[in-house]
Amino acid sequence: MLTRKFAPTSHLFTHIAHSLLQPLQSVLRKSRLRDFEIAPGATLPEVRLDPRLGCDCADPGCQHLISDALRFHSPNAPRPGIMRWTVPSAMLLDLRNFPTAESYVQAVSKRSRGNVPRAAKKAVRLGCTCMPIRLESYAASIAVIHASKRFRSGGPVLAAWFGAQGNLTDSLAPFEAPVCSKHWTLSWGAFLDEGGGPRLIAYLSLRRVGDMCRTHELMAHGDYLNTGVMKLLFLEVCRWLADRKAIEAMGLSWFMYGALEHGGSGLHEWKRLMCFEPMTFTMTS
Ligand SMILES: [Zn+2]
Repeated sequence: MLTRKFAPTSHLFTHIAHSLLQPLQSVLRKSRLRDFEIAPGATLPEVRLDPRLGCDCADPGCQHLISDALRFHSPNAPRPGIMRWTVPSAMLLDLRNFPTAESYVQAVSKRSRGNVPRAAKKAVRLGCTCMPIRLESYAASIAVIHASKRFRSGGPVLAAWFGAQGNLTDSLAPFEAPVCSKHWTLSWGAFLDEGGGPRLIAYLSLRRVGDMCRTHELMAHGDYLNTGVMKLLFLEVCRWLADRKAIEAMGLSWFMYGALEHGGSGLHEWKRLMCFEPMTFTMTS
């Protein structure tokens, strides 16, 4: 039996497998473009993203996030000729199309025939609540979430095969606003109180670099997937972004959720219902 001490290596294996499979996956799953009435192999819209957005970026944290984003997103740049098939089609939500949070929710409701807002309401009825969190403050809960299901829509979760680390605790330290409002990683959590106090059952981390933010990490506890908690959490985060009232959400134009070719058919359909569209993009350095 595999032991818990191997758990940290699971992230490395997942990363290597992902890097090797991505170009192949991009070729094989271009047929998903038909769900957007785009022919497989067609040239996708290209957008240019600004990773600085006027920030003088003297903070080393800003510099780190900018260089990380330029490296991380380089595969999303369009390529000529037959190589365009190997480019992962970034799934981008154009926030500029939605002047208010309500206009976004209406668009999602229309596309999903009311199903997404209905699922979110069910989670609220069951007692789920969402709020920004400091991810490090829930280390034990997050380890339990990771270990709760071996197969996810994005593929196998190796941490679930090794078991949760047992020496972690939740410090419950409160959320802290990021140093720079244009360069940050921040997280939201979903909680359910079943009698022993609010318990973290899902989380969603976002990373913003300039005019775009992307899903960084997200997962729900396997035992609570049928509550609709992930749909509620995702919708709440999108509402927060489209609302633009928080300083961290001001000036954002794009929200990226992986690539068209990533994950199973359920994840693909979820992105479509949430109004993400396939595109290619380059970041100006
Ligand atoms: Zn900055």
